[in-house]
Amino acid sequence: MMTTVRFAPSPTGHIHIGNSRTALFNWLFAKKSDGKFILRFDDTDTERSRAEYADAIAADLQWLGITPDRIERQSSRVESYDTAAQKLKDAGLLYACYETPDELERRRSRARALGRPPVYDRAGLKLTDDERAALEAEGRRPHWRFVLPNHDGDPFTTRRTEVSWTDLCRGDQSVDLASLSDPVLIREDGSYLYTLPSIVDDIDMGVTHVIRGEDHVANTGVQVAIFEALGAPAPVFAHHNLLTTRDGEGLSKRKGALSIGSLRDAGLEPMSVASLAVLTGTSHSVEPMAEMAKLAEAFDLASVSRSSAKFDPEELNGLNARLVHEMPFADVEGRLANLGIAGGETFWLAVRGNCVKVSDAQIYWQVVVGPIESLVEDEDRDFLVTASKLLPEGDITQDSWGAWTSAVKAETGRKGKGLFMPLRKALTGLGHGPDMKDMLPLIGRQNIRDRLP
Ligand code: GLU
Repeated sequence: MMTTVRFAPSPTGHIHIGNSRTALFNWLFAKKSDGKFILRFDDTDTERSRAEYADAIAADLQWLGITPDRIERQSSRVESYDTAAQKLKDAGLLYACYETPDELERRRSRARALGRPPVYDRAGLKLTDDERAALEAEGRRPHWRFVLPNHDGDPFTTRRTEVSWTDLCRGDQSVDLASLSDPVLIREDGSYLYTLPSIVDDIDMGVTHVIRGEDHVANTGVQVAIFEALGAPAPVFAHHNLLTTRDGEGLSKRKGALSIGSLRDAGLEPMSVASLAVLTGTSHSVEPMAEMAKLAEAFDLASVSRSSAKFDPEELNGLNARLVHEMPFADVEGRLANLGIAGGETFWLAVRGNCVKVSDAQIYWQVVVGPIESLVEDEDRDFLVTASKLLPEGDITQDSWGAWTSAVKAETGRKGKGLFMPLRKALTGLGHGPDMKDMLPLIGRQNIRDRLP
């Protein structure tokens, strides 16, 4: 059977770097096994889901280098969910409940006060037809719960029921179904919570592996039971640790923190974001991988650690710089042109080692074409006047800087920083930057003359 995975975001906000970890894990897993990647929008919550968010998520994935083989929307598959729900109802596994959220909360508080686990008592399952009719006559609408298979025929006497699976990240896992409330699958307004649609989709779309965050481990116990109730084998599961910032704070789609869009707008390379998102919290060191194929080589679900994956957003700049320093001209040619930079490969190779982001090349292009604000300290004025007179004749080449500074040194007796820094500041307006040997030919004789007093 072809390996098939899915990334299933709810389009209720922009995806952040933590969500991209899940997307990339699925993508790399599919790539490594020549499988298929489905982008599935879990948009059954019509109040909060928005088409703009779905479009933005697809664009963010594209930017990261993920091109789904198939895109699905749960909102267009409701009939399949209705069929599955009917099947469960016919089997007596889906029952109507009428408690309001307040009533449920009161019951939970009472259970906690008595030292009992706040598990739903299946009161809905005891209702007679007449009682249901009376509640509906009051204007109540039912929500529907799935009866967990945690009993031996009498649902009011539960027994410990372990659902076990071998998790590709966490090893052997089990969840006791007697410790959980029967999950609500259908809301009062008839809309589906994500649980059932997710299973129906995974079955219909031939999903072989479910790779998602560890916040879904308890859901997996429930979902395995529903797969069984629907007569389908459960897929293989992998629950990865979640990315958190250094202070341990989780990322929230709603807060917009570290969204993929904001990282893109900040000028970061998709591969530095992807490298950090994938390699943090694994046994592999966090290194910038220039290509998805390289990242795929470094990626292994079994190397994902059990503890949280903490990262410092600042690390992104360091990774990005390392990628940019090695970036071939062919990879940036178009982007440099879009930034109005016409210096070609010579310029790029001269400046890339000083760029954290590709867009930093603009700083040095400005130095090349000018105008710049030349920095000339009063005490260096005479020195610079002398230097100007000693500028070698002929073409300015990569050799010119060495020849020029030797001549200036011989004439003025200055050396080291006292020799180079005033020249750099006068010619570039900056106290640091690419090698002057490379910059000099790019700046050119006219600019050199104009920038020296
Ligand atoms: N929509 C769910 C989420 O974003 C999907 C979880 C899953 O992959 O099953 O958390």
